[in-house]
Amino acid sequence: MGMHPVYGHEALLDRLGSSLAIGRFPQVSLFTGPAGVGKQRVALWVGQGLLCEGGPGAPCGSCAPCRQVRKLTHPDLHWFVPIARPKATDPSKQIGEAQELLAAAMADRRAEPKYSSPEGMIGYPIAAIRLLHRIAGLTPYSGKRKVFVLGDADRLVVQQASQEAANALLKVLEEPLEDTVIILTSSRAEALLPTIRSRLVPLRIGRVADSAVERFIHTEMDENASGTALQRRVLSADGSIGQVIAAGDAAGAEADAAAFLETAEAGDGGFARKAFRQQPWAARGAFTDTLDAMALSLRDRLRDATSPGNGKLRRTLEALKKIEATRLAAQGNVNPQLALAVLGRELEELA
Ligand SMILES: [Zn+2]
Repeated sequence: MGMHPVYGHEALLDRLGSSLAIGRFPQVSLFTGPAGVGKQRVALWVGQGLLCEGGPGAPCGSCAPCRQVRKLTHPDLHWFVPIARPKATDPSKQIGEAQELLAAAMADRRAEPKYSSPEGMIGYPIAAIRLLHRIAGLTPYSGKRKVFVLGDADRLVVQQASQEAANALLKVLEEPLEDTVIILTSSRAEALLPTIRSRLVPLRIGRVADSAVERFIHTEMDENASGTALQRRVLSADGSIGQVIAAGDAAGAEADAAAFLETAEAGDGGFARKAFRQQPWAARGAFTDTLDAMALSLRDRLRDATSPGNGKLRRTLEALKKIEATRLAAQGNVNPQLALAVLGRELEELA
């Protein structure tokens, strides 16, 4: 499996292909535009074009480097995404931990290339930027150049020690080596520090046509989608393929959550069995989506509860706490199946 192709953006890719071919693609740039329109996907396409054997130019799609980029295994393509803050206190251990968390995130993307936007609690800890700084200083592994893509770059500001992280990033952006191309992407560019933004060549990426969204649904999600249901999905996506993916995730997570809560309430030990039989979540995000849907459903029940102080209310509150603790643990490198089985036992005890 690999990244799905770019859907839509035909005119933009034409333009980018030409600027790559004449060597005019900027060394440091910022792709902005609405959430989910494919900014990171286009950035990876640019990376593919830069690393292509026939390149630079529009990627041929079939040479070995092009195929490696599609499979996210090219050693000179460094895709940075928001991660949890490392737990180690020693800075060099933190960098190692950040590297592991990124590797896990990339393994998730390889297993499930259709990703949604990252959870609210993760971002760019200083260790991730130090890691970027370190790799940016190395010689390219196999290609002539190194390409960095930093998705959701505005997440730099939500972390503690963000000033330090921002300064470290500035250092990389100010004097990138000649063989280095860095693309930041953000749907909230205004949240980026002006000192960082001013270094970057901006490129606006707009929504895709409804026809591209429709093609995406048919090819990547549901070949049988048709009629008014399909039209509704296309319309509510509003030119954002990320929106289509998120809507699909939400529906799946709700169904999973309802099934798990029902099993926990039966209280006969079925939860753990169900947890282990669960198809492995292709991505960590899908697991946390399910936990969120469970918490949401319990919160609805609390709101509807009429007699505060009764045993059921207390048990529901306890259950919520357990789910939230699992949610927090899921930010790290826990095994989702195992975490869910443990949670199930705790919920069954409360049932
Ligand atoms: Zn190629």
